[in-house]
This record gives sequence, C-alpha cells and structure tokens, in this order.
Amino acid sequence: MNVYDSERMSEALGEDGYEETLNPSEADMILLNTCHIREKAAEKVYSELGRFKDLKTLKPSLKIGVTGCVAQAEGDEIIKRQPLVDLIVGPQSYHNIADLAANAVDGKKQVDIAFPEEDKFSVLKGKRSAQRGPSAFLTVQEGCDKFCAFCVVPYTRGAENSRPVIRIIDEAKQLVQSGVKEITLLGQNVNAYHGDGPDGNEWSLAKLIWELEKIDGLDRIRFTTSHPNDMTPDLIEAHGQCKKLMPYLHLPVQSGSNKILKRMNRSHDAESYVSLISKIRDARPDILISGDFIVGFPEETENDFNDTMSLIKEIEYGQAFSFKYSTRPGTPAAERDQVPEEVKTARLHQLQDLIKQQQKSIQDKMVGREVQVLFERTGRFDNQLVGKSEYLHAVNVTDPTISVGELKQVKIMKSNANSLSGSLSN
Ligand code: SAH
Ligand code: SF4
Repeated sequence: MNVYDSERMSEALGEDGYEETLNPSEADMILLNTCHIREKAAEKVYSELGRFKDLKTLKPSLKIGVTGCVAQAEGDEIIKRQPLVDLIVGPQSYHNIADLAANAVDGKKQVDIAFPEEDKFSVLKGKRSAQRGPSAFLTVQEGCDKFCAFCVVPYTRGAENSRPVIRIIDEAKQLVQSGVKEITLLGQNVNAYHGDGPDGNEWSLAKLIWELEKIDGLDRIRFTTSHPNDMTPDLIEAHGQCKKLMPYLHLPVQSGSNKILKRMNRSHDAESYVSLISKIRDARPDILISGDFIVGFPEETENDFNDTMSLIKEIEYGQAFSFKYSTRPGTPAAERDQVPEEVKTARLHQLQDLIKQQQKSIQDKMVGREVQVLFERTGRFDNQLVGKSEYLHAVNVTDPTISVGELKQVKIMKSNANSLSGSLSN
C-alpha cells in the first residue's frame, strides 16, 4: 500500500509543479514514506533520515518530509529526534502535502496527522497512469477494526473504510486506458470491502470484482490482503468462476495454535482455516495459497509452534511471509511475557525452511506446464523479459519478439532458485 500511496503523492504533486526524481541530490523535497508494522521498519526511518543531513547542509532550502504510518504513530516526536525534518504527514492526510510544503519555510515545521472526515482520494489531484508498468495497485479499502493483539494497523491507518464503487471503476479505467493490464486491489483487510455501490447498496469485494471484470483491456485482477473471517461464499465462488480473477490467494493465518490464535484475538481457529482453504480449493483446485506467520508471539510454547508447523504441512503454501513477533507500543500483546529472541530466531529459521521446501516443490511442478505470462520488465540478459504467471511466479523468457506489457502463453522449461524459465508456446 505504501507503493500505491507514494505513486498517488507523486501524481498529485505533479499537478503542483513537482517532478519526481530518484536522485536525492537533485531534489527540492524528499519524502520518506514509512511503515510502522514492525520495529525494524520503523527504526530504519531514522537511519535513512541521517543520510540526508549532508544534503540539507549543502542545500538549506531542501524540505524533508516523513509520511506514512511512522509519521502517524510518532508525530512531532520525529522532529524532536531528528530536527532536520520539516513535514510530518499521516497516511490519511497526504492530499495536503503541497500546501504543507508551501508553509514549511523559515523553519516552520508542519505536522498533519489528523484522520479527516473527507476521503483523501476524493480530493487528491493527478491522473492515474501506467507509468510503472502493466501491473498496477489500486487501494479499495483502508484501515481495520479487528484489533489483533499484535497489530498497529487499526491505530495508524484508522478505522475500516471502503471507497465507493464508482471511484474505483473510474480509477481502474484510467489505468487501463494508459496501458495497465493487471490490477491488484489493495486493503489491509481487502475482503472486508463494503463500498457504496451505484445502486445505493453496499457492494462486497466479489461484486466489485465482477464489475471490474467487465472492463475491456483489463486482463487480470488480484487482491491483497485478506482476513480468513471475511472470505465470504461469493468471493470463494468468484475464484471458481471469474476468468480474470487470478488463481492466487494471500490468506494470512499467523499461527496454527488455537491457544495463540485466541491470544492474538484472531477470531478464527486452525481448523476453520484449514476447512476454509479446502472450500477455496474445491472452487479453484489449482489456486496457489500464500500466507503470513508470526513466530514467537508472547507465551508461544514449543507445542504451539509445532501446531503452526503442522498446519503449514497440511496446507502446503506456494508462498509465505513470516516474521518474528515484534513488540509494538500501544498494542495489547506488548505488555505480555515475551519469548526470548534466540527462540524466535530458531523458530523462524525452522518455519522458513519448511516454507521454502513447499514453495520450491510447487514451483518445480510448473515445469512442462503452459502458463500465461504478463511481461513487466526487461531482464538482465539480451532479449530477456521477466513477467508473472497467473500464480505470481516470476517467469523469464528470452525472445526478441516479446515486448513489456504483452500477455503470452509460455511453456515452462526450467525451475530456478526463485523463478521459472520458459519459451513462447506455439
Ligand atoms: N490484515 C492482514 C495482515 C496485515 S499486516 C491479516 O489480518 O492477516 C501484515 C502482516 O504483518 C501480518 O499478516 C502479520 O503477519 C505481520 N505483522 C503485523 N504485526 C506484526 C508484529 N507486531 N510483529 C510481527 N509481524 C507482524
Ligand atoms: Fe492487523 Fe490484519 Fe489484524 Fe487488522 S486483521 S488488526 S490489519 S493483522
């Protein structure tokens, strides 16, 4: 979502005369868009800011802004810790950046971390375009009301909020007109989507997907990230029926221990997750399942961890993200008995080894199969292009007849460490 937000900031600032540069020494303003989900990401902000000190000495008019969830969570504390910062802008206020930047003169610091009534997307300037390639993100839902005991999202992104259907369709059409072929719908809890529909009713994510399917020129739809409890029957059915909805589902479970899931306030258990995945596989047998795991959550015993390992063995993941539990100030789990760091590290390695094996074995099974690839960029070698299959596997093909942005049928010839290689099917 930060990638999406950064694009929107850049497009909006473009209307105010700014131009994007990836070279900090050229910049009149540097924005650091930040993540607060784990301690490491949040701490990185300060080391990054330190790197801009020399630039600011050379060019005192340089404005430095911190945006995103660290800005939201820490507010003007950031300026106290790093006085070179001029602007602090939370994730719901970034439509105000140009005005804030204009006021950030003569050492006047600007802080905007309000949760405004107005929806930033309805006032944000700038047109959406395919400037970053044929695959684009589109935020449809933000925030969360679930309050898992480890998670900062409800505090930093705010309450759950869905964008109206019409605005999403309009944005998708802008993207497609400029050359986008694949859209990934984004939300911290994207499958809890319940935006106002044009018929006056609330629409579910599945209904929104079916509407997007009607857009000519849009070939692929994906969504992330979902919560198991919001995996409604219509969405499962869409996975079976909707041709443009790709056979890939990121469905975090976090733990396989019911005791820990309860302590996490997840409101689902391991058995309900397993049976949900089986329903989804009934609807779309070839779907690739991905997940998130937290190891070393407070009070996690060896037995609890083994329950997680068993669940992973039962599901067989094609992809997964796993993290050591990171204490987040202000969340309920921060106050509980912590698992020692070395135990967390050992469990993370064990879990990641298992995931890697599963991932590789599912990837290896693609050899000999024909997949559809959307080519996103050029590769390292002459005439090599890299794209993604329906299952989100990276696929490279060396062929001078292909261009970025094309969708082609590819026969998979080889499974590499983290990608597949193939050649065009005849
Ligand atoms: N809404 C999604 C998750 C969004 S946050 C869900 O409910 O599953 C993205 C991921 O970051 C989470 O799935 C979780 O695995 C991880 N995460 C969140 N808070 C964390 C913390 N305090 N420590 C470690 N990982 C965390
Ligand atoms: Fe965080 Fe997801 Fe839980 Fe919401 S449902 S609190 S985003 S982990």
